[in-house]
Amino acid sequence: MTSIYPHSKAKALKPGSRRPAKELCSECGLCDTYYIHYVKEACAFLNQQIAELETIAHGKSRNLEDENDCYFGVHQEMMAARKKDPIEGAQWTGIVSTIACEMLEKGLVEGVVCVQNTKEDRFQPMPVIARTSEEVLAARVNKPTLSPNLSILEQIEKSNLKRLLVIGVGCQIQALRAVEKELGLEKLYVLGTPCVDNVTREGLQKFLETTSQSPDTVVHYEFMQDFRVHFKHEDGSVEKVPFFGLKTNKLKDVFAPSCMSCFDYVNSLADLVVGYMGAEFGWQWIMVRNDTGKEMLSLVEDQINTKPVISQGDRKQAVQQSIPAYDKGVTLPMWAAKLMGVVIEKVGPKGLEYARFSIDSHFTRNYLYVKRNHPEKLDNHVPDYAKKIVSQYQLPDK
Ligand code: FAD
Ligand code: SF4
Repeated sequence: MTSIYPHSKAKALKPGSRRPAKELCSECGLCDTYYIHYVKEACAFLNQQIAELETIAHGKSRNLEDENDCYFGVHQEMMAARKKDPIEGAQWTGIVSTIACEMLEKGLVEGVVCVQNTKEDRFQPMPVIARTSEEVLAARVNKPTLSPNLSILEQIEKSNLKRLLVIGVGCQIQALRAVEKELGLEKLYVLGTPCVDNVTREGLQKFLETTSQSPDTVVHYEFMQDFRVHFKHEDGSVEKVPFFGLKTNKLKDVFAPSCMSCFDYVNSLADLVVGYMGAEFGWQWIMVRNDTGKEMLSLVEDQINTKPVISQGDRKQAVQQSIPAYDKGVTLPMWAAKLMGVVIEKVGPKGLEYARFSIDSHFTRNYLYVKRNHPEKLDNHVPDYAKKIVSQYQLPDK
């Protein structure tokens, strides 16, 4: 059957060829499909349009006068949560995988876009459309690398799917929302995670080799609320490295340029967002953005414990101090880094204030990156909420 859509005449780019967003490309996968037809409008790095797409997805854009809205995006509800019976091998307790399994099993969707890994390499992403719970569970745990999730978009039309759940990070979801109406779906559900500091597969290797004592046995890692990176190893042991001891001078160019210029940490356009950084240690953080998100969360309500989010401490001084420290690539000796980690964990920001700490640190760093490397993009590419957040801090002139 030939497609009636204009995009079906467009041609996907060949693997490895230069993408329209050039070095800022996050390899979201759109350009691996004939939906490249819409790239100029859809690409998160060529046409930042979060406020407009928020209005389409949630019925309104965020209110910049409301601090939680400004930081975390449009939401009806926020909570801390964890599964009563966590999924073994999930990134946290497996709330994302559980929602996806329930949606398939209850027949709300016919397929789930998620990311498994290749047989040879646990960190090499392999986007799939899962049709069974087993296939969803095989995609559990973060692949902390740029992942071309949208490369499966052509398969949707070809397999005549009408009801779909897409799991993804901000840049993928922005492009997805921009082409949503071209996909011929009856219903699209979007389950997002926050995302920051992602890397290419080579960058990940450098990060692991510079930071972990046993890079080859790392199964997963997370930048935790206790100001340490937790590396989980194959034998179940957990190695903890304080943020302040990271070799910033060596790691400066590890993060992908797309992630150094991203301001959608909290996945503004997903219906439901599941992360951790707004919750206390050991808990996940859930944001219900709209009625579709509410419907998705209701499917697992009996499988999770929830509690209200908290907010404690004051992040601002720590953020201000981190700006020149990052710029100069300061690395503390390990004993000092450990000590600082312990002190900050005791008195430092917690809950939503920790999330604001992380957002402020990344937005100020990224604002400087765009200003220095792509000054012509600064005004249009940085959303108004991010400009407001950055304006709270003193940045170097150059
Ligand atoms: P699981 O049930 O283990 O499911 C994980 C899901 O993530 C899978 O369905 C898989 O398809 C999907 N996935 C894995 N890798 C990718 C990828 N590269 N791109 C798109 N989708 C992927 N949360 C925060 O609060 N703060 C952060 O700074 C933060 N950084 C993150 C960085 C990355 C690269 C990723 C992928 C996630 C990040 N998260 C962050 C989200 C958090 O780490 C967990 O993924 C989330 O809490 C869900 O945990 P879970 O146990 O419910 O997920
Ligand atoms: Fe294409 Fe996505 Fe790269 Fe933009 S980020 S150039 S849409 S693959």
